Amino acid sequence: MKFSYVNPTVIEFGQRQIASVTNHIAKHHKVLVIYGGGSIKRNGVYDQVEQALQEHQWTEFAGVEPNPTVETLDKAVALVKEQQLDYILAVGGGSVIDGAKYVAAAACYDGDGWDILEHKHTITEAIPLGAVLTLPATGSESNSGSVVTKRATKAKLAFLSPYVQPKFAVMDPDVMKTLPDRQLINGIVDAWVHVCEQYLTHTSKAYVQDGYAEALLKSLKSLAQDFDKRDSDDWRANLMWTANQALNGLIGSGVAQDWATHAIGHELTALYGVDHARSLAIIQPSLLRNQMATKQAKLEQMGIEVFGLEHSADLAERTVAAIEAFYHSLEVATSLTQYNGTREQAIDDVVQQLELHGMKALGESQAITLNHSRQILENAIA
Ligand code: NAP
Ligand code: FE
Repeated sequence: MKFSYVNPTVIEFGQRQIASVTNHIAKHHKVLVIYGGGSIKRNGVYDQVEQALQEHQWTEFAGVEPNPTVETLDKAVALVKEQQLDYILAVGGGSVIDGAKYVAAAACYDGDGWDILEHKHTITEAIPLGAVLTLPATGSESNSGSVVTKRATKAKLAFLSPYVQPKFAVMDPDVMKTLPDRQLINGIVDAWVHVCEQYLTHTSKAYVQDGYAEALLKSLKSLAQDFDKRDSDDWRANLMWTANQALNGLIGSGVAQDWATHAIGHELTALYGVDHARSLAIIQPSLLRNQMATKQAKLEQMGIEVFGLEHSADLAERTVAAIEAFYHSLEVATSLTQYNGTREQAIDDVVQQLELHGMKALGESQAITLNHSRQILENAIA
């Protein structure tokens, strides 16, 4: 095992913590507050941010859409450059925070910001940013990843850079009170798959990473079982913290990581508008079956440790079935039913996009070729 590990994001967790924003941004900064479609105006989060920034100079950019597009974000980049803003505060879910990361990096680059997503530009600086999280799911509030979509070409691509990791993240579970069930469920499912992408690989015997991954999966399983308690402080706090820990770098340190479910899922979102989390539930069971030979040992471990299954010759397959049952218990579909044209056309279209985006060797051993992706889609598209 060999790795470097640091998570530099300061977390302010708990009720009424939005006020602490004032302490994290020095008063000399000119701040851009960036947010989404207006949920923060309706649930009081905007007012709390306004209160926290009353001694700061700030301006705002609204309208970052779910699955943020470069077309929208480039307008924020122009605003930052024009007004020489030097701190970004993202107030929202993964889309707003990911979008803010793109803006922070693209504002320090003279070329076309999309170069960052195509890995034609390596980030060497970014405007500092902080986050007020309103939707626990992605972990974006304290990681270095970002996913951005180009509407014109239906490309949904990711980048990673330590320069865009938030300096601080406020996580007040009270903000979740206005989240619709659909988004709470998306949060459980996205966090679940984040853990699996770093746990269900060919590697085993990383006791700390495995044990922590299993604790996070058990937490998510309990939250799903207790979904009728979602209007309680405990339930909200547990989801918020679990989703954060699922993708903050720790459980992925020194172990193989897969991320193929995410790569293929991104194409479903870009082509057919499927919610991010739901795209993962469609792809993951089929992908696990396709890669069963290499993932068998870890699937068996998950079956025993997370689902409490007994050992048997078909334990790995029973674990995949238990994962499917977990999604179904949340009324999350595990196959794609809405697409354009015929099923064959949809499979061809997704494979073509994967090829176009260079996703020809996915998974922890780069063993998932375009042919494997096609097989995975054949079992995932109804
Ligand atoms: P989201 O796209 O940020 O938000 C989904 C919807 O929830 C929006 O309509 C938003 O409305 C609404 N919403 C947010 N907070 C709310 C609240 N407190 N009350 C009521 N409504 C609220 O969802 P997300 O699942 O957090 O983010 C998904 C994106 O993150 C995808 O693009 C995905 O690819 C990406 N992602 C990133 C990472 C990473 O590590 N960076 C990991 C996984 C996924 P408003 O627009 O009005 O706020
Ligand atoms: Fe995700």
